[in-house]
Amino acid sequence: MWNYLKEIWLGTYSLMVGMWITLRLTFHRPVTVQYPYQTLKLPARFRGHVQLPLDANGKPKCVACMACARACPSNCITMEGHKPEGATRRELSKYTLDFTTCSLCGLCVESCNFDALEFSKDYNLASLDKGDYVMDLLKPAGKEQPK
Ligand code: SF4
Ligand code: SF4
Repeated sequence: MWNYLKEIWLGTYSLMVGMWITLRLTFHRPVTVQYPYQTLKLPARFRGHVQLPLDANGKPKCVACMACARACPSNCITMEGHKPEGATRRELSKYTLDFTTCSLCGLCVESCNFDALEFSKDYNLASLDKGDYVMDLLKPAGKEQPK
């Protein structure tokens, strides 16, 4: 008999505790979002794959000096550049990042003297195709990214 009453009391008590926690948190600001319909703002220091920021004319700031490719310990970066007739600086014609071996160490970004390389905020890069991670960084952002 006592055990029976004790179990009723414990069940009621745990129910009340649960209801109290639910009631209390109902009026708190939510800390989660309805992903994928909503996403959180990423911290400033978040490191996604590297990308080539554009200048005011919509062209990459990169001058194809190759310093980033030389600095990369994983040989992730391949690029080509040329100097057009009469131009004062080299132009980039190819810039490929093999993200499968990138460790996000940041040596490429640090080695660039032209602020022409930065970390992106892309994180939603899941894919079953490894080829999706060999990225042509000269394509408009997002087009070459895996779904
Ligand atoms: S972050 Fe590091 S590993 Fe990745 S491309 Fe740059 S230098 Fe290479
Ligand atoms: S170091 Fe900067 S300017 Fe030089 S090739 Fe790399 S991204 Fe371009």
